[in-house]
Amino acid sequence: MRYGFIGLGHLGGHLAASLLRAGFEVTVHDLDRGTAERHLALGARWAASPAEAASQSDAVVTCLPSPAASAAVVAGPQGVLAGLAAGGTWIEMSTNDQEEIARLAALALERGISALEAPVTGGVHRAAAGEITVLVGGEEPLFRKHLPAFEAMGGEVLHMGPLGSASVVKVITNMLAFIHLLAAGEALMLARRGGIDLAKAFAAIKASSGTSFVFETEGQLILNGSYDIGFTMDLACKDLGLAAKLGRAFGVPLELGGLTEQTFIRARQQLGGQAWSTAVVKLLEDALGTDLRAPGFPARL
Ligand code: NAD
Repeated sequence: MRYGFIGLGHLGGHLAASLLRAGFEVTVHDLDRGTAERHLALGARWAASPAEAASQSDAVVTCLPSPAASAAVVAGPQGVLAGLAAGGTWIEMSTNDQEEIARLAALALERGISALEAPVTGGVHRAAAGEITVLVGGEEPLFRKHLPAFEAMGGEVLHMGPLGSASVVKVITNMLAFIHLLAAGEALMLARRGGIDLAKAFAAIKASSGTSFVFETEGQLILNGSYDIGFTMDLACKDLGLAAKLGRAFGVPLELGGLTEQTFIRARQQLGGQAWSTAVVKLLEDALGTDLRAPGFPARL
């Protein structure tokens, strides 16, 4: 199976490298050619456009920062659909809008091209280790066909149901993660203002019923002060916007999700879209003039 891979950023770069290490033939493309250096060293071929990558592949993965970027790369001029032969597959690994994936999948189908979605969750450190969780939506036989590639890129691989179902779950998991992040910041600030040693507070909360994956991972980056989770404010705002859209579509009030989205919009305005999403906690640190630093925590996971 020959794969094309478009989008070699903080996440996609690791996923494409995992495919190469597993022995797949991979042709890569990104707006920034510099992102491909390590892939070329691992034996990847470079393509000058998504269409060129697709013309040398049986399936093309996209891992891009916005629904607009996915639309351009998949259906634009020199896009994936212009290069992929009938019988090929487009695999969306970006966190994208369920409706947008359905729209692009319909365009693909007109050309005899099938579609899968495979958003991932767990963070770039897990992607680097080939242990990220992969959520797949689409027809079961197609899922089975590409399972070896998903297993090469990820740890747990879960088939969620028809196309669109994985995106819904992925957006839900990120909404939860961002809510947990704000909660982690408030928790650490209470400890700090209460005069508790933050390293001890971290250990105690980690061993408590109040812990969370986000507390245990991003909590360390807050305490270090790097905030470097490899995921930007722009992406967080995109995902919280997608969650809000699901809330409206399904008639579910997202009181915590909505508050969290507003806090992230403020953080993006104050810190910039390319700031790490973990730095949302800095808003509280700045407002109170109290930092959350403690020795002994890593800058990156
Ligand atoms: P990123 O911004 O680091 O990387 C995106 C890459 O896409 C960049 O290298 C950019 O040059 C490239 N790109 C943008 N537009 C392009 C175009 N038109 N043609 C070709 N290349 C283009 O983003 P990321 O962190 O790698 O995330 C990618 C996707 O994965 C997003 O949808 C994100 O929400 C999702 N995701 C990220 C993480 C994470 O921890 N970073 C985790 C889960 C899901």
